[in-house]
Amino acid sequence: MVAAMTAPKFKYIYGPVYSWRMGFSLGIDPLNTSVKSCNFGCSYCQLGLADVLPSDRRVFVPASWIVEEVKALPQDCKIDYLTFSGNGEPTLASNLGEMMLALRDVRPEKIAVITNATLITRPDVRRDLRLADLVLLKIDAPDQDLFEKINHPVKGLRLADIIKGIKDFKKTFEGKLALQIMFMEANKAFAREIAQVAREISPDEVQLNTPLRPSDVRPLSQEDMAEIKKDFDGMNVRSVYEEEKKVYQPFDDSSTEKRHGKFKN
Ligand code: SF4
Repeated sequence: MVAAMTAPKFKYIYGPVYSWRMGFSLGIDPLNTSVKSCNFGCSYCQLGLADVLPSDRRVFVPASWIVEEVKALPQDCKIDYLTFSGNGEPTLASNLGEMMLALRDVRPEKIAVITNATLITRPDVRRDLRLADLVLLKIDAPDQDLFEKINHPVKGLRLADIIKGIKDFKKTFEGKLALQIMFMEANKAFAREIAQVAREISPDEVQLNTPLRPSDVRPLSQEDMAEIKKDFDGMNVRSVYEEEKKVYQPFDDSSTEKRHGKFKN
């Protein structure tokens, strides 16, 4: 367990939280907007409703501000990954690569990015993501219709382009590539088709999830998730109900609740 401690109040970092996918994860929010900033409006999003943004990149927070907060952490705190996620889609931050490079100088941990994968069609985003050790990319649908129904993308985003972008990225990425798939009633009948998309991408890991954090979408049962897993037979699959949960204590409750919901052990 990470010991409770007094620490400065943080604006851009949160956690560490225990993630079944990464272990103890220090969240880094390169956006820090008051409402969610994302070019998706996923039906299951735990961050609440907000206008869906265009896919334009810009600087939301200077890299040095984030580095200063990370430097304020004790060097011996238990962290497995520095994870870019936060209050929306982290690749919208045009200084994401600059932040990763700067953090390499101040912390020894690996760096992860959790992304909805929409901007991976852009060379500058692929260049930034290549700086990470682990990239988690979202695919929840096998076709454009279901993609729009579940993810509510900003107008003009094409699932086929995103899948091609992921395949192109994989050819030049030397880190670990994971596909994260959220299953719910709306897509559980399409598990086989989604598994086929995953096979074509051939990620290092497939992560099967269902909305267990508070949202408007009900999670699937353990039995449903076990059935879905069968469709991914032969791939390196992890599934949320089968993973260990560990107690954690964030450095700062309020910055963590803003991005991760009210923490509960
Ligand atoms: S991509 Fe992530 S942040 Fe954006 S709407 Fe979907 S779940 Fe929320």
